[in-house]
Amino acid sequence: MNRKLRVGVIGGGIGGAALIASLRQRGMEAHLFERTAAFREVGAGVQMSPNAVKILYALGLRDTLDRLGYVPEAVIGRHWRTGRENFRTPQAGACRRMFGTDCYHLHRADLLAMLVNLINPRQVTMNAHCISVTNHGQTAVARFSDHEDFEADVIVGADGVHSVVRDSLFGAEAPLFTGNICWRAVIPAALHPEFISPVTAVWQGPNGHVVTYAISGGNAQNIVAVSETPHWMAESWHVPSTREEMLQAFAGWHPDVLRELSAAESVFKWGLFDRDPMEQWSKGHITLLGDAAHPMLPFLAQGAAMALEDGYILASLLAVPGIDATEALHQYEAERMPRTSRVQLSARARGKRFHLTSPWQQFKRDFSYKLKTILSPHAAGQEAHWVFSYDATAFRPAGRRVASSVSAPEPVNG
Ligand SMILES: Cc1cc2nc3c(=O)[nH]c(=O)nc-3n(C[C@H](O)[C@H](O)[C@H](O)COP(=O)(O)OP(=O)(O)OC[C@H]3O[C@@H](n4cnc5c(N)ncnc54)[C@H](O)[C@@H]3O)c2cc1C
Repeated sequence: MNRKLRVGVIGGGIGGAALIASLRQRGMEAHLFERTAAFREVGAGVQMSPNAVKILYALGLRDTLDRLGYVPEAVIGRHWRTGRENFRTPQAGACRRMFGTDCYHLHRADLLAMLVNLINPRQVTMNAHCISVTNHGQTAVARFSDHEDFEADVIVGADGVHSVVRDSLFGAEAPLFTGNICWRAVIPAALHPEFISPVTAVWQGPNGHVVTYAISGGNAQNIVAVSETPHWMAESWHVPSTREEMLQAFAGWHPDVLRELSAAESVFKWGLFDRDPMEQWSKGHITLLGDAAHPMLPFLAQGAAMALEDGYILASLLAVPGIDATEALHQYEAERMPRTSRVQLSARARGKRFHLTSPWQQFKRDFSYKLKTILSPHAAGQEAHWVFSYDATAFRPAGRRVASSVSAPEPVNG
């Protein structure tokens, strides 16, 4: 009998929303539980590289991306104090030629909204705070502080870096403070049109870096300013800060980047946490997805991209007619864990490379950028060919207990 699996998803961030949207596209109505009263995202930008964009296209969101996103011309690496150009990697057109799609920069709220628009509102319960999950024979049960239990064939924890589902499955273990804090801000073009730039700038300094890029169709400029610090004292992982505190952390940096930081308003400060790669995400009929499974430093700009890939691939497995739930989760882990583990570790390594303090090490790094610019201009600063070239939409389930493979899905909204 080819009964469709009943699926429950805990957490309505980018990962949870992508999973539900991908399942719906395949004719499955999974149920989403989100603890907040409304879907919401941090007021900041997000870079979507081709591996993520392929999924958004497959979900029928190409026109929306073209309308709300911004396609950067290039990424430029700069010396923190002199402003010297260390590398220039072309993006618009070049990414399309090399990886099949452009890169897009978006406001996070726009990205989440476009995914949520693909979800059936009748399959969503807001204000539902999950407190635990357990396996019960051939099903799994999620418990909530304020709602009835939910029983399903599969429960997916897409509840972020502080995942309750993960704690429930594998025991509570706090994420690791990585020694990095970051300030995030968005500067509206209406106030400061002079800062909107067609190129992404990566200012590389000792013990820190600053990334700036245009979002919202060029109507705003996004800033991420990262600085190393030994301690994160706050209990919360983001706290209000001031422009002055941020500027102090980048004292002595090039006037161009300081001018941009000076235009930031309502500044928040974040502690950056990650975890070591896991050896297992699933137990019985319960699994993890996105930051709940593999929280990472944002230095490869891949956390949300990995959550999208997880969601799309897990949906393609759960939707296979007649598939056994545990077999689907087994194949999901086999496909996803090696890649996300490598991305987690590469993000850490990139932070070290960005933040070098020794002038000799910096010289060697910058010289290698120069060399790569000559040998392979489209890869010079990116160093992420293997990340961008992955195509989750080409994944096909395999195995003995799979009744049939999945055909290319029709977009929900044309
Ligand atoms: C500074 C910075 C810059 C970044 N830039 C990029 C970038 O450019 N590109 C990129 O791809 N990634 C980027 N990332 C990473 C990206 O933001 C995350 O990896 C991504 O948002 C994770 O999505 P998620 O859905 O897994 O988790 P989350 O976004 O954390 O969503 C989890 C959801 O679960 C809900 N929830 C939590 N607990 C419960 C519970 N107990 N019950 C019910 N619901 C619950 C939460 O309310 C939330 O809605 C960046 C991260 C940072 C910090």
